[in-house]
Amino acid sequence: MTSLFRLNRRDLLRRAAALAAASIASSGAAGGHARVAQRKFSAYPFSLGVASGDPVGDGFVIWTRLAPNPFDRSSLPDETIPVIWEIARDERMLNIVKRGEALARSALAHSVHVEVRGLPPGRQYWYRFRVPGGDASAIGQAWTASQIGAPLERFRFAVASCQHFEQGYFTAYDYMVKDAPQLILHLGDYIYESSWGDQVRRHDGPEPVTLEEYRSRHALYKSEPSLQRAHAHCPWLVTWDDHEVDNDYQALESEDWQDAQAFVKRRAAAYQAYYEHMPLRGISVPRDDEMRLYQRSTFGDLVSVAMIDNRQYRSPAACRSKEDGGGQVVTASCDELFESGRSMLGETQERWLTGGFARSKALWNVIGNGEMFSRLHQKTAKGEEGWWTDDWNGFPSARERVITALARSKMPNPVFVTGDIHSFWVNEVKQDFRNPSSASVATELVASSITSAGVPYDQFAAFLPDNPHVKFFDSRKRGYLLCDAGRKSLMANLRTVEDVRDPLTKDGSLGTFVIEAGNPGALRA
Ligand code: FE
Ligand code: CA
Repeated sequence: MTSLFRLNRRDLLRRAAALAAASIASSGAAGGHARVAQRKFSAYPFSLGVASGDPVGDGFVIWTRLAPNPFDRSSLPDETIPVIWEIARDERMLNIVKRGEALARSALAHSVHVEVRGLPPGRQYWYRFRVPGGDASAIGQAWTASQIGAPLERFRFAVASCQHFEQGYFTAYDYMVKDAPQLILHLGDYIYESSWGDQVRRHDGPEPVTLEEYRSRHALYKSEPSLQRAHAHCPWLVTWDDHEVDNDYQALESEDWQDAQAFVKRRAAAYQAYYEHMPLRGISVPRDDEMRLYQRSTFGDLVSVAMIDNRQYRSPAACRSKEDGGGQVVTASCDELFESGRSMLGETQERWLTGGFARSKALWNVIGNGEMFSRLHQKTAKGEEGWWTDDWNGFPSARERVITALARSKMPNPVFVTGDIHSFWVNEVKQDFRNPSSASVATELVASSITSAGVPYDQFAAFLPDNPHVKFFDSRKRGYLLCDAGRKSLMANLRTVEDVRDPLTKDGSLGTFVIEAGNPGALRA
């Protein structure tokens, strides 16, 4: 399949021209666009690639953005531009089964989101975009989901997070494409707003604040060919973490105690730019400075994925310091930490998540989760029990409510897949975190980062004796998770790359862990 994306642009253009001629000669679904005059762009308009997302039983979302020069908005006129989309049953786009016209609106940075519907379930498709009489995009792959509850033997998905552009090349995505997952989950830090650490290349500018600046940052990341190939390979499900907006922000609280009104505007700009660059449905169009991202997808009777939003609705970090409003390690002397009203998901999302547990029809119930869910016991310099406030450890009452709901619902095989911490972890989620011999209610698999520098290995490895529910930890390799769900087990391969500073880096693996159905926790395969 990857060979398809090595087609050069001339090939694509030749095909597009042949197809345009064919469609003008025929009437039917495509008739509408022939009246639109040919449009000349200053450069190839599909420079940011294509993407698909959110597969359901009768369709999926396809995305592109017209951007002859994504860093110069004057490269496109401030007007709506029609774009043709096509869905085919073959990779050469000869047997087209659906075609339509979408509008690339200037107000949404000329992005195009098409919710394709009315296709039969469980089928493979190819798609592309064209400008009337002009350029064609790369060809992407997508598929319709098996009907909810229909028998499904196996399902392969990959899990990614944390791709700092300055800290490395996204070569991990090329190995991911070779691994041929059917679905890619991205758990956040898709872009980074800020700069630190060792750098192999530079961002387009300082920290973004305005809509134009966030658009430019997304375009920079999307210009990475490995990332484009991974988007073209299969549908994605996405959620965000903090760096899509601002390090460690919490709902409407910024890390730097920025003026509230200014931060509302900044967050809205970041959310809109995120929407404009992701294959998301209409439900996610930003409204009133908010954006609905959490959603559940189900594939046959085998896998359900609930993507959750840990940033937009959370309570402010407990005992925030005036010097730094982001995450920190606090001790039990912080009363606020344990307040029962504190929320990670917000009331509505929490009700949606926990209410769905009892209704699941799937064997494997994946929760796509921004930051570490498992309790991570750590000692402060003074030897006191510490709590990191930016992940679920900073929301003990909210965490407890989710665990209680999981235990009560008896939903089969809950598996948290998690990002954020730039390291691999395999954890058992205990019913009572104070009691290591209490029942395990779920498994947590944490993906390392695509490029972002790992947490200090020795510091975290020193926590392990106090955390017997942690079955594996390593922060020394970048990479992703490759998961194979079957009827009896779910296998998670901890896939790695050797050196993100080398665009031709080799790949590897830290091993495969197996979760047996009906038995939370994982063992080395
Ligand atoms: Fe990160
Ligand atoms: Ca993060």
